[in-house]
Amino acid sequence: MRPEILFSLFAPLETLPGVGPRFAQLFTQLAGPHVVDLCWHLPSGLIDRRYAPKLRDAEPGRIVTLTLVVGEHRAPRSSRQPTRVICHDETGSIELVFFHAKGDYLSRVLPEGETRLVSGKLEVFNNALQMTHPDHIGRLEEQAELLRVEPVYPLTAGLTLRTVGRAVSAALKTLPELPDWLDPAQRARNGWSAWREALLAAHAPAEEADLSPLTGPRSRLAYDELLANQLALALVRAHQKRQSGRVTRGDGRLRAAIVEALPFRLTGSQKTAVEVILADMAAPGRMLRLLQGDVGSGKTVVALLAMASAVEAGAQAALMAPTEILARQHLETVKSLAAAAGIGVELLTGRDKGKARAAILERIASGEAGIVVGTHALFQEDVAFRNLALAVIDEQHRFGVHQRLTLTGKGQGVDVLVMTATPIPRTLMLTAYGDLEVSRLTEKPAGRQPVDTRALSLERMEDVVDAVGRALAEGGKVYWVCPLVAESEATDLAAAEDRHAALAARFGARVGLVHGRMKGPAKDKAMADFAEGGTDLLVATTVIEVGVDVAAASVMVIEHAERFGLAQLHQLRGRIGRGRDKATCLLLYQRPLGQAARDRIEIMRETEDGFRIAEEDLRLRGAGELLGTRQSGMPVFRLADLAVHGELLAAARDDARLIFERDPQLESPRGVALRVLLYLFERDAAVRFLRSG
Ligand code: ADP
Ligand code: MG
Repeated sequence: MRPEILFSLFAPLETLPGVGPRFAQLFTQLAGPHVVDLCWHLPSGLIDRRYAPKLRDAEPGRIVTLTLVVGEHRAPRSSRQPTRVICHDETGSIELVFFHAKGDYLSRVLPEGETRLVSGKLEVFNNALQMTHPDHIGRLEEQAELLRVEPVYPLTAGLTLRTVGRAVSAALKTLPELPDWLDPAQRARNGWSAWREALLAAHAPAEEADLSPLTGPRSRLAYDELLANQLALALVRAHQKRQSGRVTRGDGRLRAAIVEALPFRLTGSQKTAVEVILADMAAPGRMLRLLQGDVGSGKTVVALLAMASAVEAGAQAALMAPTEILARQHLETVKSLAAAAGIGVELLTGRDKGKARAAILERIASGEAGIVVGTHALFQEDVAFRNLALAVIDEQHRFGVHQRLTLTGKGQGVDVLVMTATPIPRTLMLTAYGDLEVSRLTEKPAGRQPVDTRALSLERMEDVVDAVGRALAEGGKVYWVCPLVAESEATDLAAAEDRHAALAARFGARVGLVHGRMKGPAKDKAMADFAEGGTDLLVATTVIEVGVDVAAASVMVIEHAERFGLAQLHQLRGRIGRGRDKATCLLLYQRPLGQAARDRIEIMRETEDGFRIAEEDLRLRGAGELLGTRQSGMPVFRLADLAVHGELLAAARDDARLIFERDPQLESPRGVALRVLLYLFERDAAVRFLRSG
């Protein structure tokens, strides 16, 4: 239950004075549904209204706050003309100009003969002073409120700065004093004020510098948010470890048979990764480990050896892939090797129906299937394992926190290994997983050659087709990638089909086509034809991006490369250069090339290092976009900005760890304050893992 002290902050917006249902809806879009969301809506700029000259001395072009006596209202001659209100002080006069003034609004706010404070931008028109639509009009008593530096808030359509500013002020009036959850020593060291003061200060910038995310108040608020994030993750992890955990220790028999059957030697980092994973599985706690490695770095073999170890221990393992094609490909890699060790492997995808599916489920339930490879079909309710010990999840580029948890529900204390080809920068990783253990595959398997990457304008299409012709004549295999344009799948498809037709006209039946609209079996057939030599030139939309492995492919043409992101280009290019032949990647771009696209293509030509490319991507796009934050399951922060608060994040992680060692149930006075913090940042779910107290 949310602590009572936070009730006012989590009240609906309509509870604020001056906020009705219509504004509440707009504020919800802008910031969120609760009072607290407006408090988190920090200013992005400021307007200094302290300049209060007499009219004679006032500098046009500046924001001024004038004390004026209201004179004559001059009604417009036509509806397109403005109403003018003539005002003066003892040194001069000015016209206030209003377009489309409604009803008696002007006579109410500017009654003739009265004195009013008027703030806005001073202009000169026809040699006379004027102000169009003043930002504020107030009475003399309101001087303190008006004659100040006004915070400027991010807005949304339908809201003015004035309405937002007022609502935020009203929200800030409700701020309770909260017990401080920060370590006093740390607060002192950083010179941080108490939470309430910090929040009020963040909303009251006096100069530009106060808007920096690195000011004391803003740092403190960001730290609070990061600490809530890290503490919540620590609670969830501790819960997982406490709850479950099983000891899975194989005898090495099946692994030896697999290694024997491998046509290559494991790289050093593959060996290390396997060792560490086996140690995790043998430990009583529950494993949650990320296996990170570029496309083609050989993650599947590592996973297979871990799975074999589970089978040695008399249990089962599951390997889940994000797409059907990938699941099949994993099956291909896994099946013959597993067979060499006598392990039964089963495939389960959404395509399996009726009797066939029932038979598969039976082999999973009986334990006959030691390893089950599949898509998200594995999560379906009627899929029951006899004894699932290890779940391997190939996330490629997505993060599916929920799916991960569902699969672990299919066995007692299931160990989880997540494989990803996304080289996630360390900061982002911490916020998504906390202290998740990570293994990295940093070496490329032996015998791989660097890809020769070139950029060419689309105008040179004929030369490119000729080059493709030469590659085909030499027995090469070629991918031709057509871009996805988000707006319309149909248009993309048409483009790919046109390209296919044009290339088929030249090269005949050796040209295949694969795209996302094709049904599963047709897609698989197109891929299989290409892999087995039925076709040598495969026109594809980005469906080939994820994982598909045709070692003999040595040329890739990417049409409209300027439309692809860096990560995507990198993943695509990873499809070639896996065999012994020297590989070439041709990036075809449309002129004129914008700066960002030029940078991306340049980086692609410079390096094949996935971590370097990820960092450049982060630099070019910013953290929020890198992983498509919202869809990716990565947390979204209101106050912290990972691009600048990286050090605070590390400190918050250490802090959370320490708190947890000393007071795992959050029962000390600071612990109780920390519970409030978790609720304040809506990490309610994590609090449930504490004994109620
Ligand atoms: P990832 O899943 O990391 O993209 P895979 O596991 O699919 O990579 O491996 C890519 C290819 O490299 C596969 O054909 C695999 O058999 C091969 N491979 C894996 N490890 C090695 C190695 N140590 N030496 C040579 N080839 C390897
Ligand atoms: Mg793979």
